[in-house]
Amino acid sequence: MQPVVHDIAASFPAAHPTTGKLTLRPALFCPTCQKWYPVPPPNEITRVPGAGKCPKDKKTLLIADGPWPDGSGSATKSAGKP
Ligand SMILES: [Zn+2]
Repeated sequence: MQPVVHDIAASFPAAHPTTGKLTLRPALFCPTCQKWYPVPPPNEITRVPGAGKCPKDKKTLLIADGPWPDGSGSATKSAGKP
């Protein structure tokens, strides 16, 4: 599964910009693994034990900031880009 950059969605899963299917889930970045991991939606994250932590080492706190998976390196992604 390829991570994508998406505007903050009001609900999840959100529509994938390429396929249009409701497959997008929020993700957080693990600075230890240097990887993005899918996380539960914000309204569920407090109810899921271990959510918000790295699923691999189970102790690294996932963060919202990380390198953009598409390599654009910027939050200003113009719509309609091929
Ligand atoms: Zn990790």
